[in-house]
Amino acid sequence: MNQVLEESVTAVKGIGNETALTLNEMGIHTVFDLFEHLPFRYEDYRLKDLETVEHEERVTIEGKIHSQPMLTYFGKKKSRLTFKVFVGNNLITVIFFNQPYLKSKMEINSVVTVTGKWDRNRQTITGSECHIGENRQEKEYEPVYSIKGSMTVKGLRRYIGNAFKQFGPAIEENLPQGLISQYRLMPRPNALWTMHFPTSENDMKQARRRFVYEEFLLFQLKMQAMRKVQREESKGIEQDYTLEKVTAFIESLPFPLTDAQKRVVNEILADMKSPYRMNRLLQGDVGSGKTVVAAIALYTSISVGYQGALMVPTEILAEQHAASMRTMLEPFGIKSALLTSSVKGKKRRELLEALNSGEINLLIGTHALIQDEVNFLNLGLVITDEQHRFGVNQRRVLREKGNSPDVLFMTATPIPRTLAITVFGEMDVSTIDEMPAGRKIIETYWAKHNMLDRILVFIEKELQQGRQAYVICPLIEESEKMDLENVLDVHAMLTQYFAGRYQVGLMHGKLPADEKDAVMKEFSQNITKVLVSTTVVEVGVNVPNATVMVIYDAERFGLAQLHQLRGRVGRGGDQSFCILLADPKSENGKERMTIMTETNDGFVVSEKDLELRGPGDFFGRKQSGVPEFKVADMVHDYRTLEVARNDAAKLIASEAFWHAPDYEPLRKHLASTGVLDGEKLD
Ligand code: ADP
Ligand code: MG
Repeated sequence: MNQVLEESVTAVKGIGNETALTLNEMGIHTVFDLFEHLPFRYEDYRLKDLETVEHEERVTIEGKIHSQPMLTYFGKKKSRLTFKVFVGNNLITVIFFNQPYLKSKMEINSVVTVTGKWDRNRQTITGSECHIGENRQEKEYEPVYSIKGSMTVKGLRRYIGNAFKQFGPAIEENLPQGLISQYRLMPRPNALWTMHFPTSENDMKQARRRFVYEEFLLFQLKMQAMRKVQREESKGIEQDYTLEKVTAFIESLPFPLTDAQKRVVNEILADMKSPYRMNRLLQGDVGSGKTVVAAIALYTSISVGYQGALMVPTEILAEQHAASMRTMLEPFGIKSALLTSSVKGKKRRELLEALNSGEINLLIGTHALIQDEVNFLNLGLVITDEQHRFGVNQRRVLREKGNSPDVLFMTATPIPRTLAITVFGEMDVSTIDEMPAGRKIIETYWAKHNMLDRILVFIEKELQQGRQAYVICPLIEESEKMDLENVLDVHAMLTQYFAGRYQVGLMHGKLPADEKDAVMKEFSQNITKVLVSTTVVEVGVNVPNATVMVIYDAERFGLAQLHQLRGRVGRGGDQSFCILLADPKSENGKERMTIMTETNDGFVVSEKDLELRGPGDFFGRKQSGVPEFKVADMVHDYRTLEVARNDAAKLIASEAFWHAPDYEPLRKHLASTGVLDGEKLD
């Protein structure tokens, strides 16, 4: 970067020390930072034909004042000014709140320009800006910036303008000429200027297109470099298995693998055999058979003499996995153990010793599994289930456990492609995109709360057939503020309803671990017929005899989560049902319910979820490692994202990138991220 741009913002005309402090708070320290503080959106001041404007959309119109403005006061300082305006042949109403002084300027028949929110039904604009007279300022777009403290958008614009005058010529290109001409990208200095001082719509588009590509490319360079560094620095274990053994294990399973399962098994085993460390994400829809794939990988590692570890997010899931792994692996002489926070004292000590001596081949557990006191003799493979709960840094910590074991991350939520290549951009991805044969589609219905009676009758019919049902509630205890059903009330209600006929279990996160365990056992052994629960049963829980899933206040949940919950049924051979009890108020809520009733495909659900909630909320957690882009939008710009990813991969793999002068700015950028030194990412 040009040295001049690294000067403090105080070098810009008009910026004194005080202003600089405010700018610092906004993360702007240098002249460069000031240039890079891009608008997050643009106000569109072009005149529009009201016929084409959507309800509640912001609009600027020009018209003639048709009626004497009426001013009414309510409260001390609150007022409303109302007048009629002819816009073309339309007579509309304009309202300004709390700007009484406008009244004196209004004259019938004078030209007025109003910007505000359009109410299509009432044919009314609630104005925010107003200009009287014909000499309207010729502006079309106005950038809107995020600001802090005493800074104003107007002031900021002036400073940026001054900065361009003084330092504009120092702005340099950072992309190689080859890419610029290949994609006909606007050069950086022009693009930067256009972002701050937009003129035509087309220029804005081109400037934005350039920055979207640049942002994605820089980000992907970081991810791809990280991937390369990881490969090179991590000489992994070559797990030199014999195919016959693995095949024998696969043949011992009660079903043939699906083609998709075969494909991902091959991908995983190839990684394990290679001298590189595996760093792979395994994704597939609920019930697509990831657990079996995990078992095959673990078996393979253990068959070569290594130990395996399987880490899951909850104790319930740990126990369930432990049980199914035992069923599959014990016949092959494999000794497994379960480690959770409830394994204590002597039992824990003995377990850790057996692990350290290599007597235990497979350890299954919760987070307890990566604590320091847990030492393996020779760990070969670590698998984590539901890994999207970990960000990129936690993934690193996990990989640092043991002696460079191979690592496989599994996720139950299919990850939309755009997130897969950003959030997991440094990993290889295997996808199971096929369900085992004969799976029935779970019939999903959306019902209003007032249809509960009919739903109870429906549940009872299924129970009479010997089936079981889940009933999910969003809350544990009564909450006065929120008008939501809680598990305790619903449990009480259902216990009474089914009294003398069917037993109703109760499960939630605040129960002690052993009680949870007991409740789950009773349900899986078909003693309790109905399980009222919070979302603790969301992931992984497997009770094939359950055919009904009722979800209270379903609009409260994200789509991916609803899909997970729904995946608790339909796990046996019987037709299963999911009933969403919801009275959503928002359009978004209604749309989510409709999507659930229309598709059973987790990949489709995930894409929709991402669209409706945005990338930040997709994983529902802050530490999920979703990167933030200034200009680019992962969802809407995903095509560019894919292009940038391919370009980044090609660059990183090419000789020229590491030496040729044309790539120097990119190399410098990469060096500044710390990835090349194996430093932590943010
Ligand atoms: P996931 O972990 O992907 O949600 P599971 O591994 O729990 O799915 O598998 C769901 C159910 O499907 C399990 O009961 C499992 O035994 C069964 N299953 C897995 N693979 C197959 C297959 N290839 N054919 C038939 N059933 C399968
Ligand atoms: Mg699973």
